[in-house]
Amino acid sequence: MSRIRSAIVIGGGIAGPVAAVALGKAGIEATVYEAYQTTADGVGGTLGIAPNGLDALAAAGLGGIVEPVGTPITTMVMRNGKGRRLASLGSPAGLPSQLLVWRPELYRALHDAAAHHGARVEYGKRLVAIEQRDADPDADTAGGVTAVFADGSRASADILIGADGIRSAVRSLIDPAAPSPRYVGLLGFGARLSAGSVDPGRIDPTGSEMHFVFGKRAFFGYVLAADGSGGWFANLPRATSMTASEARAVGADEWLRVLREAFADDRLRTVDLINRTDPAEFITVGGMEDIPTVPTWHRGRVVLIGDAAHATSPSSGQGASLAIESAVQLARCLRDLPYPEAFATYEGMRRDRVERIIKMAQRTNSDKAAGPVARVLRDLMMPIAMRLMNPESFSWPMRHHIDWSAPVTPAGAPGAAPLVSVASSSA
Ligand SMILES: Cc1cc2nc3c(=O)[nH]c(=O)nc-3n(C[C@H](O)[C@H](O)[C@H](O)COP(=O)(O)OP(=O)(O)OC[C@H]3O[C@@H](n4cnc5c(N)ncnc54)[C@H](O)[C@@H]3O)c2cc1C
Repeated sequence: MSRIRSAIVIGGGIAGPVAAVALGKAGIEATVYEAYQTTADGVGGTLGIAPNGLDALAAAGLGGIVEPVGTPITTMVMRNGKGRRLASLGSPAGLPSQLLVWRPELYRALHDAAAHHGARVEYGKRLVAIEQRDADPDADTAGGVTAVFADGSRASADILIGADGIRSAVRSLIDPAAPSPRYVGLLGFGARLSAGSVDPGRIDPTGSEMHFVFGKRAFFGYVLAADGSGGWFANLPRATSMTASEARAVGADEWLRVLREAFADDRLRTVDLINRTDPAEFITVGGMEDIPTVPTWHRGRVVLIGDAAHATSPSSGQGASLAIESAVQLARCLRDLPYPEAFATYEGMRRDRVERIIKMAQRTNSDKAAGPVARVLRDLMMPIAMRLMNPESFSWPMRHHIDWSAPVTPAGAPGAAPLVSVASSSA
């Protein structure tokens, strides 16, 4: 067992740059390898960074980087399609507001911060294979791992971290039987509205609230500033999934028509926001997905973080924040423990928490796709449940604090899986 000095991080989304900075803080040199030539992944919608995500960023020394590009959301207001207020959830006491941020702006902020902290990012490097080797004291060779990229280049380090998202190549390389993403029964859409798009006389600006509508046939969320700028997203129940490219092939105009129709019976002005959408600003996500459990988080010198290990559907509003938390916790484990103990301890710290949040999001997905009977029950029960429930049952995911300076002690987690050499990627 040995201390780790260098790391390859696959994926320059959210977890990757944070991991590189946190590893640097832990004295481990890390380089991020991103498949694309740019920082954004083409899905340009909004993301909420929850208080626990902000806390984890601060633990990595990245406090304050989201604030300049984020809009604070103090309250989430939920209505049904008839305009009836079902619930309103304020920020949990004592915690900062979550920040709503456009994904490309968040990626840019993370990459700028990573560069500022001296973390290297190489673009256009798509991982296709991993080779691992044990130390051989007889031949006096150290153990290590090599990443092989689609362009034929290679990179070696002590460990490799898979931060390559929900369709992780690293996940299938360390466990060819790893589960694939599961469609949660909803297609995702969104749009950005530029200033002047919407007449604030017709729809009230939302201020620091985010508004959600459980419509008759689909779910809608939006924010609107006083100048008529803002953004919205919609979740449309559909029996079968579509990939993002299949959904994009349908075209923005057609989807906007479908969505107008889906919300036509709701007594809210949401349709106005759809009508005012510039098709060029329309975002087609495709089928929304999660992975309830990933059995193998680490094998030999390779470990997973972020969506690669724990993909929650967007309904949790926690995917990015959990990705940040895992990046920071893994760095703490590697700072204080030899590998592979560090990997087992990291998994022991994280697995229950992330899988519980993935399950919570699944319940929200069912509410969004409710049929006529379930809709009546939901509209009856939600206001009562909100009144009776302990607010902690909603806020516990956000009450997560990482104390960077606290030493990590090894968990009684099971030993690491043996080393394997994997020849090719299924991604
Ligand atoms: C529509 C939508 C809305 C969402 N809303 C929220 C929200 O409000 N709040 C929230 O917290 N979360 C939200 N999420 C979830 C959040 O986006 C993810 O949980 C988060 O992006 C995970 O970060 P990550 O770094 O693990 O993966 P990603 O951000 O997906 O980054 C993975 C990176 O790896 C790269 N990559 C992939 N394969 C390879 C390879 N073979 N070689 C090299 N690089 C590779 C990709 O190009 C990408 O840049 C939402 C997701 C969606 C789809």
